[in-house]
Amino acid sequence: MPDKRSAVRSCFALALLAVLGVLAALGLRPGEPAGADAPPGEFSATRAIAHLDHIAADRHPTGSPANVLVRDYLLAELRGLGLEPSTDSRVAGRGAGSRLNVAGSVTNIHARLPGTAPTGRILLAAHYDSVPNGPGAADDGANIASILEIVRGLKTSAPLRNDLDIVFTDGEEAGLLGARGLVDAGGAGDPDRTVVLNMEARGTSGPAIMFQAVGSNAGLMSATGAGDALATSVSDDVYRLLPNDTDLTVFAEAGLRGLNFAFVEDSANYHTPHDDAAHLSSATVQDMGEAVMAAARELGDADLGTPQEGNHTYFTLLGMFVHYPVWLVVPLALIALLAFGLSLWYHRRHGARLGRVGLSAATFVLPIAVAGGLGLGVWQLLRLLRPEYSLFLSGDTYRPLYYAIASSLLALVVLLVWYRWIRRRASVAEVAFAVLTWFAVLAVVAAFLVPGGAYLFTWPLLIGSGAMAATRRWAPAGSPLAELAAGAASVPAVLLGLPVILLLFPLVGISLAAIPMAVTVLFGATAVGFLATAMPPRWLTVATVVAVIASAGFLGAGLLTDRYDAYYPRPVSLGYGMDGTTGRAYWLSAGNLAEPVVARMLAEPADVAPEVFPNLASREVVGSDAPPSASIVLPTLRTLGGSELPDGSRQVSLRLGAGPAVDDIAVYADVSAHEIIGATVNGVTVSGGKNVEGTDWQWGLRYTAPPADGIELTINVRGNGPLRLNAVARYNGLPADAGAPTLPEDASWAPPLANQSFAARVFEF
Ligand SMILES: [Zn+2]
Repeated sequence: MPDKRSAVRSCFALALLAVLGVLAALGLRPGEPAGADAPPGEFSATRAIAHLDHIAADRHPTGSPANVLVRDYLLAELRGLGLEPSTDSRVAGRGAGSRLNVAGSVTNIHARLPGTAPTGRILLAAHYDSVPNGPGAADDGANIASILEIVRGLKTSAPLRNDLDIVFTDGEEAGLLGARGLVDAGGAGDPDRTVVLNMEARGTSGPAIMFQAVGSNAGLMSATGAGDALATSVSDDVYRLLPNDTDLTVFAEAGLRGLNFAFVEDSANYHTPHDDAAHLSSATVQDMGEAVMAAARELGDADLGTPQEGNHTYFTLLGMFVHYPVWLVVPLALIALLAFGLSLWYHRRHGARLGRVGLSAATFVLPIAVAGGLGLGVWQLLRLLRPEYSLFLSGDTYRPLYYAIASSLLALVVLLVWYRWIRRRASVAEVAFAVLTWFAVLAVVAAFLVPGGAYLFTWPLLIGSGAMAATRRWAPAGSPLAELAAGAASVPAVLLGLPVILLLFPLVGISLAAIPMAVTVLFGATAVGFLATAMPPRWLTVATVVAVIASAGFLGAGLLTDRYDAYYPRPVSLGYGMDGTTGRAYWLSAGNLAEPVVARMLAEPADVAPEVFPNLASREVVGSDAPPSASIVLPTLRTLGGSELPDGSRQVSLRLGAGPAVDDIAVYADVSAHEIIGATVNGVTVSGGKNVEGTDWQWGLRYTAPPADGIELTINVRGNGPLRLNAVARYNGLPADAGAPTLPEDASWAPPLANQSFAARVFEF
């Protein structure tokens, strides 16, 4: 039974830890947006957001008339800032290997703010096209507007030494086409003297995050730390493992160095018609603008001519930016490992049992796995109660906060249960060493595999082991320091781990809350040393029960409050498909069939010809018969010629066309008896092979914003008999003459199949 004074001390330590946690979390919140009266040299979100009346008034995907209006506005604004902007129109594209080939006609915007004595240039980039399904106020209109505001601010203060190139790319949403076009046009310039600052969005609020530094980042650290963007090299390593891409991927492939800034919270309205100015957080715009403007100023006066080689590990610690060379990561992990070994050796001489440490460490996998399992279980439960949740693009719900709190509490409950159980078998020090064993293994593994994340384990290991060794060695028996040492690792663990946990929740969404929950158990376990003396076992039981009740309470509160309304409308997945070969037409959905609008249109499910949606064949698309529409123009595909090649393959030249309002046009080949060796479209080479899963239509190419007279396609093919080609034109909107529904205020079109019509027709050549 712990004595009163040590209990007070431990409670004090836990309270201190909580305060540190709150401070670490508060550091993540963006500050107040600056008004229109902010000093001219400073960034003002209010001034930036005013541009959105023109940039995000309407959906403006590449090639749409609305995108031309946005472009004209941006050109006029750049001229108004005293710059001489130019445009570059070209066909861009790339064979994406295992992913669908993409190409399109794009128009990039470029302007230069010349430096006084340039050593290189900064490429300040964002994309000005929106998704077909929404006005893109956050993605990426806010960042385009912010660049205008940054340039205005820079123009009114001391001129920069280096050139600042402003690039508004087109066609990002269609497959990073503008960035590819810029590189094709030689816009990457001298990679050794160019640094990209790219601005993106994957939500409508949240703090500015510098989530990716490409190329040698050592010379970029001053710019990363200049603003108060949240930065951690672990996100860089994790992002590399994900299939997501931004324009910066293309610039990195061209050899450029750069930083990627984005915001990721509130993803329910992302890529929907409700990504408008009303749903955009002005505090977020301020945070992004300040961070990127500070980075531009920093790099604007840096010597870009002699780039610093090497990479740094970096992270934000209580608002401070910390970084050190990556070559230190392995030695630091080994030093921490040594401290751990030494500490364990000291404690073993004073009675710590290695067998118990081993048992505790082995069983620690249980709370981590159970927390993860519960996370997945909670999501299945939520989906059962709220079928519309399955449609959320990023796995996050309308208002995920209560669910996130409930999940975190649940993770702590699992941790407490394990702790109660293991404490009957092992001492406080033995349990603390068991947790540190995990940190030791992870520190070493991460140092070699994901060096950007090794700091998360190395510092708690070093500080925890060091404190336990030092107090065992020098502190007198019964010293309060020795008692508190078992929890010492929790201070760096909370300061470093909490920002990552808070980032993970919006990044992976409640659907994958299992991941931050498992991480919570891992990092939270470093604090168990304080628990032993803070409360007797009976209190621990009480605390566990309270946490269970609180978790259930927050889950209930989430279910009660996380309802759709006009601000957070429920997602509706509905599309229209017309099969020109058979004359059949369908309503299509890939979402919640119980949703009233979908349920009404898809009253009698029917087998849908896969020709209508080969790109969605891997999704669960359901259809029902619909009246054909006279307003949907079927694609045309006519032959321009063909020739046999010496290697026995054959070349087919075709012209593919569609109606004037087409967003994109795709062609898929039946490769069951043929092999596509390669193809060119309007002069751009794309890959052959297979790049679509699901049906016989396993080779595909999508062309965004085709010219009025269509596109010219040359396919190199091998095989017997005629080649079957399926042309699919995609239009925005559902045909009124087929009885398209109008959505109520509290519903919104959600991808996939969001308010899109597909017209397909099969040809043989
Ligand atoms: Zn974007």
